[in-house]
Amino acid sequence: MKIYNTLIRQKEEFKPIKDGEVGIYSCGPTVYSSPHIGNMYAYVCWDVLVRTLKYLGYKVNNVVNITDVGHLTSDADSGEDKMEKGSKKEGMTVWEIAKKYENEFLENLKELNIEMPWKMPRATEHIAEQIELIKKIEANGFTYKTSDGIYFDTAKFPDYGKFANLNLEKLREGARVEINEEKKNPTDFALWKFSPTDVKRQMEWESPWGVGFPGWHIECTAMSTKYLGETFDIHTGGEDHINIHHTNEIAQGFGAFGKISANYWMHNAFITFGGSKISKSSGGLYTIFDLKEMGFDSLAYRYLVLGSHYRKGMEFSVENLKSAQTAYRKLEGLWFEWRSDSETKNGIISEKFNNEFKEAISNDLAMPEAMAILWKMVKSNLDNADKLATLIEFDKVLGFNFGIDSRKKEEIPEEIEKLVEERQKAREEKNWVESDRLREAIKDKGYLVEDLKNTCKILKI
Ligand code: AMP
Ligand code: ZN
Repeated sequence: MKIYNTLIRQKEEFKPIKDGEVGIYSCGPTVYSSPHIGNMYAYVCWDVLVRTLKYLGYKVNNVVNITDVGHLTSDADSGEDKMEKGSKKEGMTVWEIAKKYENEFLENLKELNIEMPWKMPRATEHIAEQIELIKKIEANGFTYKTSDGIYFDTAKFPDYGKFANLNLEKLREGARVEINEEKKNPTDFALWKFSPTDVKRQMEWESPWGVGFPGWHIECTAMSTKYLGETFDIHTGGEDHINIHHTNEIAQGFGAFGKISANYWMHNAFITFGGSKISKSSGGLYTIFDLKEMGFDSLAYRYLVLGSHYRKGMEFSVENLKSAQTAYRKLEGLWFEWRSDSETKNGIISEKFNNEFKEAISNDLAMPEAMAILWKMVKSNLDNADKLATLIEFDKVLGFNFGIDSRKKEEIPEEIEKLVEERQKAREEKNWVESDRLREAIKDKGYLVEDLKNTCKILKI
């Protein structure tokens, strides 16, 4: 498999440390607000990575952390704590806020058919490991103390900034506006922050340096190396992490262990909305549940994401999602039809299409090509049983649940029959909004309704 490695800014052949096994660490969500579709774009991309590696025969150990300890709103280790801010806004404790949004994140994973990671460690449950790591970095001479915390001295790491091609000179010039005058270099960052003396923080811990809380980056180095080893295979995250978060993770790994913690660093580009990155100011901060309320199937969003390349990102629009939903429904309908046609025959996976598909996904996850191969297969002259077998094989990577055996025909409960009848009526009246709403209601109850020419079929999911 070929992977684009940010470390060398080019694609290279992937070689795991251990034969047949891959360790992956993906920076997880900060659980102080609802994950939006931009966040979930990243996790669908990394789910495809995990599924692809499994498809290619690797055993995959993937870790996605939960950042449940506050990061400061500014990158410069200052500003308000995001979790404490969320807590004040919603009138809940920070612990309740963390739990609430962690649960929301898990629901999002389920909606989008993202496989549960091998491990999902919480930062707050790894404070001891973070302290141990800081002690190592300190013992190796990379730290200094200021009035507000323990800092990493980036001047001690000769390659600091190389990863992100940072222009350190320029950063130094810009440092005249530096807020923290005790910092030796503008790029230095906090490993441990002391609790303020004037306000009581909800989250704080004892440490050898004083009561406080960990800096923004240390949790990822502590948890990735704890679960995957001092050097592991792949580290992923959004491209926004290159300049600061991952640059500092690399510095921490070097400070503690004298080497770069991961061999391959992969970054997803951003979803844009109206040409700008999805953000509070540009809008487009939809959640998967907002889209559901608008009548979209969550897997239609997954379909939309699969149509983009993770390093290109995509422009989101409701129109694009509509087209994705139409294509996804068509595929679902075909799958349904082929199933009925294949009851008496076991299909054979098409070697030709499977090889093409494998080639595409092995080329740095070329999903737009993989989706084109899927449709080429769908339109080919293979017989339906073989198409079904090939689709189910591809679905191990695509993740639409076409291969799940529990999607079998069963006795349909009266309640579902009634909803289906209502929906049929709405369709006859061309009330598409209502028919879509009912389709979702039926789906929420665990049944899928597929429209055929003049009738429809019901299937248990
Ligand atoms: P956060 O919860 O803010 O730490 O973000 C979780 C992940 O989502 C990070 O890896 C971010 O890089 C990624 N992310 C945030 N916004 C977007 C976006 N608009 N498009 C793609 N990825 C994003
Ligand atoms: Zn991280």
